Amino acid sequence: MKHMQAKINFNAGPAALPPEVLHEAAKAVNKYKKTGFSILELPHRGPEFAEILEESKHLVKKLCKLDDNYEVLWLHGGGRQQFFMIPMNFLSQDGAAGYIDSGHWAEEAYQYATSYGNAQVLASSKKVNYTSLPEWPAKIPAKLAYLHLTTNNTIYGTQWGQTPDVKVPLIADMSSDIFSRKHDYSKYSMFYAAAQKNLGIAGLALAVIRKDMLKRSVRELPPMLSYAAQVKEGSILNTANVFGIYVSLLMLRWIDAKGIDSIEKENKAKAKLVYDTIDSSSIFTPYVKEKAHRSMMNVCFTAKTPEVEKRLLELCEENDIAGIKGHRSAGGFRVSLYNAISMEWVEQLVALMKAVS
Ligand code: PMP
Repeated sequence: MKHMQAKINFNAGPAALPPEVLHEAAKAVNKYKKTGFSILELPHRGPEFAEILEESKHLVKKLCKLDDNYEVLWLHGGGRQQFFMIPMNFLSQDGAAGYIDSGHWAEEAYQYATSYGNAQVLASSKKVNYTSLPEWPAKIPAKLAYLHLTTNNTIYGTQWGQTPDVKVPLIADMSSDIFSRKHDYSKYSMFYAAAQKNLGIAGLALAVIRKDMLKRSVRELPPMLSYAAQVKEGSILNTANVFGIYVSLLMLRWIDAKGIDSIEKENKAKAKLVYDTIDSSSIFTPYVKEKAHRSMMNVCFTAKTPEVEKRLLELCEENDIAGIKGHRSAGGFRVSLYNAISMEWVEQLVALMKAVS
């Protein structure tokens, strides 16, 4: 199915959604199945939404190859709410948690945790402006409540490959690379993702938690902020984000129909095309030099002169390509290549990159 919208969208998030998903979502906004009204009016405690929730949870576990030892939650508040829910739930005032500081979001997650207990940065690549991943810590303290990792660094375009085994509970922010590749999700005691990149629309987060973590709550919390209470109420402790969860279900169906293997293959090919174009050009410089650290999801690069930068932005504007300006803290360009981005779109961008001279 072709996109009906006029512009090619390489934004980092909210990001492009597949045309099939947009089409189904628009249909549901008009009228949801046989209800006679819009999905926007659908009660969160009715049978239709119960089906949506059930199927979404089933698909998350299926795509992650996880068993019933894991709970799937849909939570309000996007990615940042997880930054504080995690330490609130698991880091006691006299406890310690480890953070791998691989970028802006990883650092912000750490900063939020410092209010609740002894949060420690165990490795950081801040000194090199996050142009590479930090070296994995030689030693991870045995008594950590958890170790927090950001699998893909959206702003700088670095991404961890398969994660090393650790003996403490591993918690990952997968906001910008969930379901983008084959991955061993069973290594994590918990992982989460803001939905607005590979998984739907903003304001919503997916959190997947191994059941043993629910017994590790360290303090009394308002139920809305407690994973155990949210699990007990099956993600409908309060009025759920019905439409957001429905769009995520459509994304999960789309991902499942394509299959993670073929999604990974496409994502690799799209990223290779852009990186090859940058590497073979004399006017663009990759933000991340170390190839093994490069992200398949966000390709960041700079232009050698302000004229080149201006020219590529102009060409994109003239050709209805949006969203390639880099984040203000990295500068230059950032091309986000989430699952919904087609190879055809990438080829159109690359043709413009080659046309700049
Ligand atoms: N984590 C990562 C890796 C992100 O890229 C982002 C946002 N781009 C966030 C967390 C924050 O998400 P939100 O804006 O939904 O709070």
